[in-house]
Amino acid sequence: MIQQIDHIGIAVKDLEEVKAYYEKSLGLKCEATEEVESQKVRTAFFHAGEVHIELLEPTDPESPIAKFLEKKGEGIHHIAFRTDNIEGQLQHAKDSGVKLIHEVPFEGAANKLVAFLHPKSTHGVLTEFCMEKPD
Ligand code: ZN
Repeated sequence: MIQQIDHIGIAVKDLEEVKAYYEKSLGLKCEATEEVESQKVRTAFFHAGEVHIELLEPTDPESPIAKFLEKKGEGIHHIAFRTDNIEGQLQHAKDSGVKLIHEVPFEGAANKLVAFLHPKSTHGVLTEFCMEKPD
């Protein structure tokens, strides 16, 4: 079951510069920065109430975020829904006709399991499911 919006992913060119904007201009506190090797990105997380903001800076020209920036520039990249059953959520989406980018969840930032739905099936919004990794 989807529990809530977990975070909004925002593609940025310069993590430090944008981090400073969220800290100084919006007064949000950076919780953590982390490099996610599998996605070739550096991330910074902010709390905005119950929802997080995830800034994503590419670490490699082949990163999906680098390609996004090339095509669309900086801006909202994806919306992540927190679920208590990521496998079931993916299966449910697939059964309803949604194309998946990842059939199998992988380890994303903040020690979570994540998987993405294909934006061609989600009316233009790149959609992520995420779940706390079970111990
Ligand atoms: Zn995300």
